[in-house]
Amino acid sequence: MDFSFTDEQEIFRREIRRFAEKQLAPHYQRDDVTGRMTPSIFTDMAAVGLFGLRVPARFGGAGADAVTVGIAAEEVARSNINAGYALLSTALVCDIFLSAASDEQLAAWLAPIADGSVIPTLALTEPGHGSDAANIELQAKPTADGWEISGEKTSISLTEDADHAVVFARTGGPGARGVSAFYVPLNHPAVSRTRLNDVANRAAGRCSLFFDRLPVTPDRMVGDEGSGFVSVMQGFEYSRAIIGLLALGTASAALDDAIQYAKERNTFGAPISTRQGVAFPLVEHLTYVAGARHLCYEALWRKDQGLDHTTQASMVKWWAPKAAVEAIHQSLLTYGHAAWSADNPQAQRMRDAMGFEIADGTAQIAKLVVARSVFGRTFAP
Ligand SMILES: Cc1cc2nc3c(=O)[nH]c(=O)nc-3n(C[C@H](O)[C@H](O)[C@H](O)COP(=O)(O)OP(=O)(O)OC[C@H]3O[C@@H](n4cnc5c(N)ncnc54)[C@H](O)[C@@H]3O)c2cc1C
Repeated sequence: MDFSFTDEQEIFRREIRRFAEKQLAPHYQRDDVTGRMTPSIFTDMAAVGLFGLRVPARFGGAGADAVTVGIAAEEVARSNINAGYALLSTALVCDIFLSAASDEQLAAWLAPIADGSVIPTLALTEPGHGSDAANIELQAKPTADGWEISGEKTSISLTEDADHAVVFARTGGPGARGVSAFYVPLNHPAVSRTRLNDVANRAAGRCSLFFDRLPVTPDRMVGDEGSGFVSVMQGFEYSRAIIGLLALGTASAALDDAIQYAKERNTFGAPISTRQGVAFPLVEHLTYVAGARHLCYEALWRKDQGLDHTTQASMVKWWAPKAAVEAIHQSLLTYGHAAWSADNPQAQRMRDAMGFEIADGTAQIAKLVVARSVFGRTFAP
């Protein structure tokens, strides 16, 4: 058993940390106030190859393994967890394409994502269907030239900045087998968006999307008709470990800051770090974060080995964001009044990490997946 990154991965980790501290961290708190991602975040992330990590070299990417994407997620989120949404979205969408799209589609779609000229998002959730995504209602009606998409998606991250989306729509009968995936442009007169007034992840620009008879040609269908639900669920097995590392990355930064502060802050004539009441809770959260982090990397490593990783990915989907939020909460408390100002990033980190307790599936749904593998399909058919 080997717990270390390869030399190449370790160099990459240090490079991304340096990049994120210089190019992403300065925008983290500012973009929360403006509610928009600074555009240079996208161009800078693309320039260092963060959007093409999983894209094969022949399509302009790095062809990196899943563990390497996890490293990038952790390091980006230490500085700016909301910039991490762009990494997450590109990684998930590219993964879905690589498992379902044709060679012609890969040739047309991957290079613009890798070079940052297209920012993709993924539109699954609807006003009436979040956890029970197999029952989505957005309609793709057959036409002479393909389909016409009509209806509403909601809660879609990055929609203010994204120009394309993988949209899941009903092409057949009820249930999962009637759902197909389409890769569609969002800058089209038949598509409109309304921004949601979010309590966190404000720069990640969550919106509702409205489709009014958007024409879609057959070359925009991803995979076979009726395979959309399976595609997205397979993609989530990967993205859930990435989400875990995004949440834990920001938690690690919070803990590092709190440890430094505890060494410097004196009360009753000694640094607060000398009090067990201060040091032990931080040690406990360092432990939880380390445990969850290992499980995230195990899920990604298993993906790289071609091994089943459904259980590990679902375990970290409920555990990692929860462990992160709790660690950041304790880090905030370590500061006393000094963290009760928006100048200090701890409170923003806490609410931003909390978004990942819901995004891509809640804790209950993740536990349901794990319970199904433990107790069998009779637990949850
Ligand atoms: C920050 C953020 C970003 C997001 N980004 C995207 C995105 O980019 N694209 C996208 O498509 N969606 C996105 N979402 C939506 C997200 O995937 C859904 O919110 C999520 O799947 C839950 O669906 P819901 O909110 O409709 O909750 P519901 O399904 O209505 O569930 C409500 C509550 O009931 C619980 N519950 C539901 N069913 C069960 C059950 N069978 N057993 C036990 N408990 C149950 C849930 O766990 C939850 O606590 C985002 C959400 C957030 C908060």
